[in-house]
Amino acid sequence: MNAFKLALKGYEVTLIEGNELVSGTTANTTARITAQQGLLYSQLKSQKDGNSAQVYYESQMSAIKEIENIIEKYNIDCDFKRVDNVIYAEHEKSLKNLEKEAKVYKELSIDGYLSTDTNQLPFETAGQLVMKNQAEFHPLKFLKGIIEVLRELNVTIYEHTRGKNTDGNTLFTTDDFSIDFEQLIIATHFPFLDIENFYFNSFKISYGYALVAETSTPIPENLSLNGYDGARLSIRNIVKPDSNLPVLLFGGLGHGSYEKREMTKQLKELEHYAGQKTVNEKTLYAYRAQDLMTADSLPFIGYFNKKYDNYFIASGFNKYGMANGVLSSMIISDLIDGKNNVYKDLVDPNRKKGTFQQLKQHLTNPLHIGEAEIKNMAEAHPDLDELDLSPGEGTVAKDGISKKGVYREDDNYYVVSNRCTHMGCSLNWNNDDKTWDCPCHGSRFNYTGKVIEGPATDDLDADIRPNKK
Ligand SMILES: Cc1cc2nc3c(=O)[nH]c(=O)nc-3n(C[C@H](O)[C@H](O)[C@H](O)COP(=O)(O)OP(=O)(O)OC[C@H]3O[C@@H](n4cnc5c(N)ncnc54)[C@H](O)[C@@H]3O)c2cc1C
Repeated sequence: MNAFKLALKGYEVTLIEGNELVSGTTANTTARITAQQGLLYSQLKSQKDGNSAQVYYESQMSAIKEIENIIEKYNIDCDFKRVDNVIYAEHEKSLKNLEKEAKVYKELSIDGYLSTDTNQLPFETAGQLVMKNQAEFHPLKFLKGIIEVLRELNVTIYEHTRGKNTDGNTLFTTDDFSIDFEQLIIATHFPFLDIENFYFNSFKISYGYALVAETSTPIPENLSLNGYDGARLSIRNIVKPDSNLPVLLFGGLGHGSYEKREMTKQLKELEHYAGQKTVNEKTLYAYRAQDLMTADSLPFIGYFNKKYDNYFIASGFNKYGMANGVLSSMIISDLIDGKNNVYKDLVDPNRKKGTFQQLKQHLTNPLHIGEAEIKNMAEAHPDLDELDLSPGEGTVAKDGISKKGVYREDDNYYVVSNRCTHMGCSLNWNNDDKTWDCPCHGSRFNYTGKVIEGPATDDLDADIRPNKK
């Protein structure tokens, strides 16, 4: 979106993408475009002040409007629809927190209300906090439209081109190409650059699960739901013309990346909880994705750090990247133009990153890294040379005093280094996706050791050994 905004303003833009365009987290989102982001406004009011809460709400609403305007102007067919967003509570005891948030809505003139109508949804609730006039869309259809405009505007696009590092005004890629720039925007989910170690401990990785199912009891067309308690499922309608029944997208069961949970089990559990909400006839697909969480629940949009006035970052969207991704293009293009932007200070990456309590909770990474390391070593197979895996199986195995990641494909073992090339954390085997996943900063590698998700830029050292057994 940053490339789009700058190209429209007449800048010469080059866009590089490490994989294929629109293959990142945005391809696996639930794509509710909403300013209702949990009970954020009472949090912001007590953590900062009422004005900050107001500014954040307005920033999100203006980003939603910007998306709507772009869709209208460029006639992008992407199932965009205005809906009311709802936080539903299943338990009476949760209502007091929803009431507190509803009070802040009133103070800030946020268009919304608390309803205790227990029969408004297809399943029973204790109450609902409604925020009016939010939206949903199909992000891939939207971005397809954006890419068409980028091509018309002659933006140079390089796919399978991974940024690795910079020197002054030159960006180097992993394939040893270089691009000279005047301004650099790093919108790569987790930033691959970390000048002065600013970002490595700013974000926590949170996994989330999603499934798409045909249902015979759909939720109302004009609502998008988010659970406050219980299994805390988000539920939205999606458009699927080839389906005979209405189709719902369920999201939930999020957890931190250090908690090792089997993806298949999580998805089964999600299916179970979804079945308690609506009568689902058939699951069409299910998946896991990850996003970056910040200590104060606000994104990082603006100058990359204080040292450079031509490096920018858009990251840390806290599972609300649809509006915030577009907001980043509004703020960063203003900064590049030398214009003021009323939202920039609130989301400035160089702000104080949270209250003492928030930072204390957020900055537990070194402890987690140590625990994960010990657990990984304890669970590792004792001897790589003695390993006997079935085809399609992977594991960590000891190799002398070090560890290796091993995966068997047919009659070959793919043996890779078990250290992430980003900052050396131990990698976990993900048997569902057949990938090596880093719990520290979210890098992922396929079983041959190739980077498929940053911030890592270098592949793992890898070796193919024939099965001798
Ligand atoms: C389960 C789940 C549900 C969610 N639901 C919602 C929702 O309902 N509403 C909402 O607003 N948000 C939601 N989010 C959050 C939202 O999906 C993300 O915040 C958003 O998609 C992140 O966008 P991004 O552009 O930062 O990252 P991505 O979409 O991952 O794009 C980053 C791109 O950068 C590329 N890249 C990485 N490193 C390099 C490099 N070194 N060089 C070149 N290219 C590189 C990647 O290949 C990728 O294509 C959800 C997230 C999850 C996990």
